[in-house]
Amino acid sequence: MTTYTPMMMQYLKIKEQAQDAFLFFRLGDFYELFFDDAILASKELEITLTGKAAGVPERIPMCGVPYHSAENYIHRLIEKGYKVAICEQVEDAGASKGIVKREIIRVVTPGTMMESKGLTDKANNYMICLTEREGKMALAACDLSTGELHVTSALSSQQWLRDELGLYEPSEIIGQIDLIDESYRQALQLGRKVLYTPWDKSREELARRQFGEAAWARLDEERQLCISILIGYLSETQKRSLGQLTHISAYEPEHYMILDPFTRRNLELIETVRERSRKGSLLWLLDRTETPMGGRLLRRWIDKPLLSRKLVEERLEAVEKLHQGLILREDLRSQLKGIYDLERLVGRIAFGTANGRDMLALRDSLAQIPELRRQCTDSSSSTLQQIAELMDECTDLTEAIGAAIVDDPPVSVKDGGLIREGYHAHLDELREASVNGKRWIAELEAAERLATGIKSLKIGYNKIFGYYIEVTRSNLNALPEGRYERKQTLANAERYVTPELKAKEALILEAQEKMVDIEYELFADLRTQVANEIPRLKQLAEKVAEIDVYQSFAVISAERAFVKPVLTDRYDLIVKEGRHPVVEAVMNNTSFISNSTEITEDKANILLITGPNMAGKSTYMRQVALVSIMAQIGCFVPATQAEIPMIDRIFTRIGAADDLIGGQSTFMVEMADIQVMTERATPRSLIIIDELGRGTSTSEGMSIAQAVIEYVHHEIGCKALVSTHFHELAHLEETLEHLQNFSMAVKESGDKVHFLRKLVPGAASTSYGIYCAQLAGLPESIIDRANGILSRMEQASSTVVADQSAVTVPAKLEDQLHNDKQSEQLSLANAQKQAAFSATTNTYSSVEIA
Ligand code: ADP
Repeated sequence: MTTYTPMMMQYLKIKEQAQDAFLFFRLGDFYELFFDDAILASKELEITLTGKAAGVPERIPMCGVPYHSAENYIHRLIEKGYKVAICEQVEDAGASKGIVKREIIRVVTPGTMMESKGLTDKANNYMICLTEREGKMALAACDLSTGELHVTSALSSQQWLRDELGLYEPSEIIGQIDLIDESYRQALQLGRKVLYTPWDKSREELARRQFGEAAWARLDEERQLCISILIGYLSETQKRSLGQLTHISAYEPEHYMILDPFTRRNLELIETVRERSRKGSLLWLLDRTETPMGGRLLRRWIDKPLLSRKLVEERLEAVEKLHQGLILREDLRSQLKGIYDLERLVGRIAFGTANGRDMLALRDSLAQIPELRRQCTDSSSSTLQQIAELMDECTDLTEAIGAAIVDDPPVSVKDGGLIREGYHAHLDELREASVNGKRWIAELEAAERLATGIKSLKIGYNKIFGYYIEVTRSNLNALPEGRYERKQTLANAERYVTPELKAKEALILEAQEKMVDIEYELFADLRTQVANEIPRLKQLAEKVAEIDVYQSFAVISAERAFVKPVLTDRYDLIVKEGRHPVVEAVMNNTSFISNSTEITEDKANILLITGPNMAGKSTYMRQVALVSIMAQIGCFVPATQAEIPMIDRIFTRIGAADDLIGGQSTFMVEMADIQVMTERATPRSLIIIDELGRGTSTSEGMSIAQAVIEYVHHEIGCKALVSTHFHELAHLEETLEHLQNFSMAVKESGDKVHFLRKLVPGAASTSYGIYCAQLAGLPESIIDRANGILSRMEQASSTVVADQSAVTVPAKLEDQLHNDKQSEQLSLANAQKQAAFSATTNTYSSVEIA
């Protein structure tokens, strides 16, 4: 019976431990893949599939990548959502009898990338762990590359889970992954590829040791479980110390403004809805950070606006001082520019993958700190002064690294050339010996030429034969007998060695080998020394990031004429001459028209906005939400004056861009969103609904719209901005005390309509639908025909009495939805009625033109 070769047997045994990963099996200078791994990887990586004799009759499939460029290939597989297990030789090839021992030293997964190639500077790379026990869900989010670890928990709820997951954009989810239902899984995949791994192996003891008993005891049981499982996964895949994870940040979702995933998308906080690009988002606009950790912190702040007025005011205080102080701002920026990605440097140092260049980057970054700190201390901002107090300059580390590492170290840490002269006495001696040896050889060359009289004689070196004396064929007869031992014959030369040359060579090579070993040891010691100070470095990185975000806010606020908002504990939201920050920024040539907002407890908390398409309704409504968010993250706002209450949640129901996720109809999605809104909104929330009730028949849509508005008015009492194309709903102003009609002003001149983008009190009279059709370039014949039909309808309508009772409905939404069925009518009759109502509302329409 034929069996596999011993090495193949070793491979198969190791492969058993990594069935869900590509196994990169180290053979000399290559990582080889075999069997199905090879077939799939050759396709995915577009590399040649070959075969290998493995003891059995047929050759087995094989492909390989060179060791030195493996990172690239690993990264490509990870990006496609795979895992890669790296199997190395773990003993010296010379030292072993039989085959060299090999082990998996690490499993690289999307959520555990440490190499900068797989990471984006200004974005975190989160792995999420989900658990559920006794009706409570817990979620831990870990970025191994920066050492962040967040954990939270709540009573089990799909909505909660989605809101929280929406914060992280994870690349990998582990734990009880079945808690996420299929449709939401698909939605998550839209952003980036997510790898799911069910996992339940917990390492509580390890986790306790990692974070310390005191920190552990402060966690609720469900959070402990979640973190234990996460640590279980990390230790099993990474197989090394995770020194960068020093601190667990446990948080309560209710301490932050809650933004569901759709609201985040609709408001384009992080990326745009259409292109999913960062450009055009609020993050893009506000990001003037100079460091990667500043960029990441900014994003976390945008993701989690604060609810504590005191904390926001602390942030605003710093921004204000930097806004006023141009010189301070510029000084800080120039220091920040010189700081590299401290968090990820620290991550690599803890992970043991940092090289000499990383160490120098750390040294150069730390060198900026004393000045940065002094600038903060000398600023008049108490927030910045407090930060300065918590900044550890770490000069001991700057000095230690500076003393050890040369100014231009190589990438590899195993080939020497990275430790400074004068750092280590024995290393210096060996270097001296090696230099002397080389000098001796140079002198030998001259001596041998003299002795033999052969001018072209030379001494060379190659890896296989070491040092040799080379004599060309034509000069061979000039060589004396006996002393020269032939080593290698070339086409027109012979190579020889002599006993003294051999002896010297042994000394030189030994010195070199020792030097390389000592350098590596010294480097590893230094790395460990720095690794022991990781908590200090991490805190420093956090503080630097904070300063960076403050200066970023100050810069953009000055550039775009934002003002400091006043935060209040009152209900009212008052914005004078507010603007949409992003639309304003990307508009060229034309100027953005500002609009004020007053949503007050006394007067009106629901603004019902009518107006034609393209009039600027949704821009206006988003603007109000963005102004609130900007204020609550501590940034200035685009307005001339703003009084902002602390808003606990923003709900939006806007647009149709993402309506088809999970195959649901637009209308169903709208209703589901509204359901969540009715269940979760509090009086401190802000609701934004664009084009309420449009996905169904006119009468149904209108009925639902009215019922929803009434529900918000009577039952919730929160701030609401609602736009609708049902002009008929304008009558609600008469019955609902806290609702006020507004519209987007338009100016008609001849047969042209001009959008003024100005919000004015009162309802719009007509929707200019046909005008829009004309603008869109529909054939003239269709436009004429539509005008004809419209005027005929309007004439007919004079005989139809507007029946408002059809849209007057009980306050409770549920009752209403139930009653809808009864109010379904033929669409023609509806259209007629609508036209009739439009005609009657004309009389009180107040589309005033400024
Ligand atoms: P609606 O929701 O009423 O259909 P939008 O809010 O989508 O209208 O606005 C349509 C376009 O008008 C926007 O893309 C923007 O370019 C422009 N716009 C909106 N509001 C303003 C404004 N206040 N000033 C200048 N241009 C605006």
